[in-house]
Amino acid sequence: MAGNRTFTMIKPDAMGAGNAGAILKMIEEAGFRIVAMKVTHLTKERAGQFYEVHKERPFYNDLCEYMSSGAIIAAILEKDNAVADFRTLIGATNPADAAEGTIRKLFATSIEANAVHGSDSDENAAIEGSFYFAKTEQF
Ligand code: GDP
Repeated sequence: MAGNRTFTMIKPDAMGAGNAGAILKMIEEAGFRIVAMKVTHLTKERAGQFYEVHKERPFYNDLCEYMSSGAIIAAILEKDNAVADFRTLIGATNPADAAEGTIRKLFATSIEANAVHGSDSDENAAIEGSFYFAKTEQF
């Protein structure tokens, strides 16, 4: 059975462009409840830990530089079928391929600076949420 929580980050490009409020509005209007949320700023080392699964990819170093280049919002979201529905809401990794009306189509500027993160499985949603929030901070 699909779980009911996912994890998101609003990435430095979207924060810097002042799009955080518009993105959170879309997330809430799509039926997601915010369970935990914080503004934070990753060090390059901590960005590297979050994206460790990509450490062999050619873009890993650039991705860590980019994700530590400015503030982000980290949040846990709740909704039935949360992981799949959130991936639909954000659209494809590359905004050039993202469907009309998706968050990445509206706000992303490149395949790297793509506005938002969304977990790709229930298991990763739990791991990623715990990367930022203690259980006692998740409401
Ligand atoms: P996601 O699940 O849609 O976020 O995509 P991935 O897990 O494949 O990649 C993680 C993140 O790495 C993406 O959201 C982008 O920020 C970045 N990324 C993915 N592919 C590329 C790429 O080909 N080049 C660069 N520079 N960044 C990429």
